Amino acid sequence: MKKKMLQFVDLKQETPVKRSTSKRKDDFNEIYNEFITDKAKEQSSRCSQCGVPFCQIHCPLSNNIPDWLKLTAEGRLKEAYEISQSTNNMPEVCGRICPQDRLCEGNCVIEQSGHGTVTIGSIEKYITDTAWEKGWVKPFKVKRELKQSVGIIGAGPAGLACAEELRKSGYQVTVYDRYDRPGGLLIYGIPNFKLEKFVVERRTKLLRESGIKFIQNFEVGKDKTLYELKDKHDAILISTGVYKPREINIPGQNLKNIFPAMDFLTASNRKGLGDKVELFDNGTLNAEGKDVVVIGGGDTAMDCVRTSVRQKAKSVKCLYRRDRENMPGSAREVGNAIEEGVDFVWLTSPKSFVGSTKVEAVEVNKMKLGDPDSSGRRRPEIEVGSDYKIKADLVIKSLGFDPEDLPKLFDAKELGISQWGTIKIDLKTMQTNLNGVFAAGDIVRGASLVVWAIRDGRDAAVQIEKYLQSKVDKKKSVEAA
Ligand SMILES: Cc1cc2nc3c(=O)[nH]c(=O)nc-3n(C[C@H](O)[C@H](O)[C@H](O)COP(=O)(O)OP(=O)(O)OC[C@H]3O[C@@H](n4cnc5c(N)ncnc54)[C@H](O)[C@@H]3O)c2cc1C
Ligand code: SF4
Repeated sequence: MKKKMLQFVDLKQETPVKRSTSKRKDDFNEIYNEFITDKAKEQSSRCSQCGVPFCQIHCPLSNNIPDWLKLTAEGRLKEAYEISQSTNNMPEVCGRICPQDRLCEGNCVIEQSGHGTVTIGSIEKYITDTAWEKGWVKPFKVKRELKQSVGIIGAGPAGLACAEELRKSGYQVTVYDRYDRPGGLLIYGIPNFKLEKFVVERRTKLLRESGIKFIQNFEVGKDKTLYELKDKHDAILISTGVYKPREINIPGQNLKNIFPAMDFLTASNRKGLGDKVELFDNGTLNAEGKDVVVIGGGDTAMDCVRTSVRQKAKSVKCLYRRDRENMPGSAREVGNAIEEGVDFVWLTSPKSFVGSTKVEAVEVNKMKLGDPDSSGRRRPEIEVGSDYKIKADLVIKSLGFDPEDLPKLFDAKELGISQWGTIKIDLKTMQTNLNGVFAAGDIVRGASLVVWAIRDGRDAAVQIEKYLQSKVDKKKSVEAA
């Protein structure tokens, strides 16, 4: 009988074809083509079916990867999809944007034996995209409607995953969001060339068709306080993400044309969605024809430089104070940016912004790496007398995000927060210090990943269900007494 799996010695690793740099620089479409069926089958068959699958252990959702790879190799795609979606509310999103090199694929045993990892992310995407195409992904039917209701603040991946799980159990779920579209950073942060918007929109449509109520343009703290919302529902989830941009306090910071990353990315994403965006249309937040300098070395910075390339900037430079090996951004995304013509200025830190009213240049210092700091990474130190100027007429600051002041914003000063401003929860119950108020996603972890937000949303749903059930049980025992 022909051997079906363990083909990694005979079959070379292949990823879906990347579109040529010249083509992808001209549009905002995703850069990887889809696997064709035979390729997906073939590549799945490279899996070594480990007894203890390290890929699964290192996937935050504990996805049952070896099983869905085997089913794909056998051509049993519908079953592969059923298994894949049983642990993940958005497998097609994770397949596209998880940093697999740091998660599942980075821990694949055949990668460690020098054969090249199984391309898990691309196969996960292929399975679910096929399921959508074939009509296997359908709104779910609730078996038993329950009276209790849950209010979810924030329609990002954490809130959406929690909403879906609770609705499947029959609860009445309302999701509130201050933006006009659900999806959180999947819609307004992450650019199309990593995640096309139709992928997110078809998911949120499905949730709506499954009975989840969405209230958009509703800002908790402005339209209602946390306590007012709490009175309306039996439980609340806070999943508002982290949005306060970290600042650089250097001379010239108030000059015009220096913007936080999210202003730039949101404008670009809105344009892609067909919205009218005045600051883009009048050229302010449009990189076309400009010398763009992006400050930062994380995934958001990579999204800014690559968006600038597609907007036809004259030049795009990325300043980062450490070297390439020490960049926090995904190695894959740095590689894509380099291919697309971004000029990385490693070991460089901004000293001042130069200009009269508008920014004209960034004065920078060269850096060298000193001894490791408390995080174990080598500390960047200024090389004295190394300063010089880099021409810039658009500067984008991408230095990370902190949480907003939620107790103040929500008019709930009792809400417990950590020293970093993230919401403090009991890690077992996922409940905050306010009874019946739970929290999940970036607002608890700090800026993290979509796959972790989904995991947190799912965990929160389990805990909220336990809490709601205990309320029902208590009521019954009081009535029986
Ligand atoms: C530019 C960028 C690129 C990224 N790229 C990747 C990537 O490639 N891969 C990856 O895994 N992760 C990536 N991330 C991280 C990822 O997007 C986040 O970790 C994830 O979206 C967090 O999910 P969340 O549900 O906690 O919050 P969010 O996605 O931020 O959603 C929070 C929602 O809450 C709403 N909200 C906030 N305050 C209120 C309020 N007061 N009232 C009502 N609604 C409110 C917001 O409008 C938003 O819709 C990226 C992040 C950024 C910024
Ligand atoms: S969810 Fe992310 S980490 Fe888990 S298998 Fe999929 S791509 Fe890998």
